[in-house]
Amino acid sequence: MKVKIREDAPDYYSIMSADFGWDTGWENIFSYLKGRWVEVDTNHLHKYEYYLKPIKGLFDEPLRVDEDFIEDIMCDVRYGKARCDFCNSISLNRKICTNCGRKDYLNPFFEDDEEKAHKNCK
Ligand SMILES: [Zn+2]
Repeated sequence: MKVKIREDAPDYYSIMSADFGWDTGWENIFSYLKGRWVEVDTNHLHKYEYYLKPIKGLFDEPLRVDEDFIEDIMCDVRYGKARCDFCNSISLNRKICTNCGRKDYLNPFFEDDEEKAHKNCK
């Protein structure tokens, strides 16, 4: 699974961070990542954010990036899965949690129509 970082990510970050002060670490990171396809750490799956796999010399831990910085997604592994709010894990089934067996706490990553439109990544 990969995500493509927006070409204008550094500019977007500077606008977003204007109220909080400019962080040069992020400036460097987005200057490097902009327009690139980056591997996602699939141990951390969320609906509206992505954890990028560490890139040597840039960041050492999985880096959390908001979906606003993402332009495109390749080989999305979240289809067919759901986040379980009861056991706080990723269920491999959207109807019943494959970890705790409960049904009422699942938040699927995608709606049914989005699932149907999805083509599996080969
Ligand atoms: Zn569960």
